[in-house]
Amino acid sequence: MESSKNFIDGEWRAPHSEATLPTIEPATGRSYGQIADSDARDVDAAVAAARAAYDVGAWGRTSACERGRLLSRFGQRIADLADELTTMESRDTGKPIQVAKADIAALARYFEFYGGAADKLHGETIPYQTGYQVSVLREPHGVTGHILPWNYPAQMFGRTLAPALAAGNATVLKPAEDACATALRLAEVATEIGFPPGAINVVTGAGATAGAALAAHGGVDFMSFTGSPQVGQIIQKLCADHYITCTLELGGKSPQLVFADADFDSTVPVIINAIIQNSGQTCSAGSRVLVQRSAYDTFVKRLADAFVRVRVGAPEMRRDCGPIITHKQQTRVQGFIDAAVRAGVPVLAQGLIEDGVDPHGFYTTPTLFGPVPRDNSLAHEEVFGPVLCVLPFEDEADAIELANSTEYGLAAGIWTRDGARQIRVGKRLRAGQVFINCYGAGAGIELPFGGSRKSGHGREKGFAALHDFTTTKTMVQHHG
Ligand code: NAP
Ligand code: MG
Repeated sequence: MESSKNFIDGEWRAPHSEATLPTIEPATGRSYGQIADSDARDVDAAVAAARAAYDVGAWGRTSACERGRLLSRFGQRIADLADELTTMESRDTGKPIQVAKADIAALARYFEFYGGAADKLHGETIPYQTGYQVSVLREPHGVTGHILPWNYPAQMFGRTLAPALAAGNATVLKPAEDACATALRLAEVATEIGFPPGAINVVTGAGATAGAALAAHGGVDFMSFTGSPQVGQIIQKLCADHYITCTLELGGKSPQLVFADADFDSTVPVIINAIIQNSGQTCSAGSRVLVQRSAYDTFVKRLADAFVRVRVGAPEMRRDCGPIITHKQQTRVQGFIDAAVRAGVPVLAQGLIEDGVDPHGFYTTPTLFGPVPRDNSLAHEEVFGPVLCVLPFEDEADAIELANSTEYGLAAGIWTRDGARQIRVGKRLRAGQVFINCYGAGAGIELPFGGSRKSGHGREKGFAALHDFTTTKTMVQHHG
């Protein structure tokens, strides 16, 4: 693997400018390598390679069955390389080792799932006027562009590329400059196990240059973006300039609705895990806990008693949280905490950073706030860190109104023993996923996932992703 180069057309290529960017280890704050700082010329080369692979190359001629076999083989190879990939991912992102390991297992599962699905995706025939045969083909878009964030680099490689490839697209991926290692290695491994050149191309570099060049490229037929709402808007506008569509997965402020009749024993640990998982850097993190007023004091005491036991440590310490990805993000998260304290929002509990972590690492103390006033920024802005806020609600109607009161709509959790309420409330929540007496931030490869409004649009995971990565062609044949 040559991490300061791009992987284009099945080989390592230096960026045209020969410029590089440092890779920083979040656990120490130190640089340990370099990646290519690519520009529009490199993106051009990657798109040309994908175009050729799709239009005239081996990839475009690969049958659905053979694509499925390749994806499945890739999943198996990833599982075989789990130790190497885990170490790489953990160092690059600061994830505790056991978290990185689970991410690599999910990555392998994405290729296993979509490997099995590749030859089960089919079109339909439609009864039409006498003398006509109508078939609706389900076809790939062609060349798909993928821009990824740094929070789950390996998992998202699988989440976005596996369905795109299963459907037959040729792909160009721009990972986040803050976490590129596994994407580069995986592109190399894919080629080793038989993916034809040009099916998977990885171009690293800054979003404003390499990323924007990809979304603006006239040779790209469809874009898949995960990241911030601000950049999501830029991507959508760039796509509009050349008349293509995109999926946007932009995060959330997902509510956990805790009713007084909930089983607090099972609720508390899941709610805590849903925010501290990946140090809160999860788009579907359950970052708002809404608690029925009649049970507020009892539940919040239980939550705070458990929250003080959250531990932050270096990746190899295998604690609940690792460091935040970058100094910039750490500063942003700390800014939210400081502003809430200054505004007088009560701190209910804090976790602890272990002794012995590198003082230059980007560690942040997990913090539980409550009651958070409804107009405080913590109640409606995505922090993307281990910061949990609690708000009381009065009754079911108030709970629904409060849950739907942010601009986001990605995921939600409902905690109650009342079966009718579970459905009644679930149907009224603005969210792409609703969990009842459980919460699934993270993998869930089989489950359609995505949001609305500021959380974005389009669906990933499950069979839904295969629909987004394909389009239909209606063929009408007159046979008399
Ligand atoms: P971001 O800027 O949206 O980055 C996401 C991806 O977009 C990265 O690959 C980035 O490249 C690229 N990018 C940035 N500017 C671009 C542009 N003008 N054109 C095309 N691509 C561009 O997100 P961030 O700054 O890393 O994080 C900021 C906030 O976004 C977080 O605090 C969090 O709230 C949210 N976020 C959400 C998710 C999620 O899963 N939904 C993930 C990460 C962050 P480079 O990073 O290489 O410049
Ligand atoms: Mg890094």
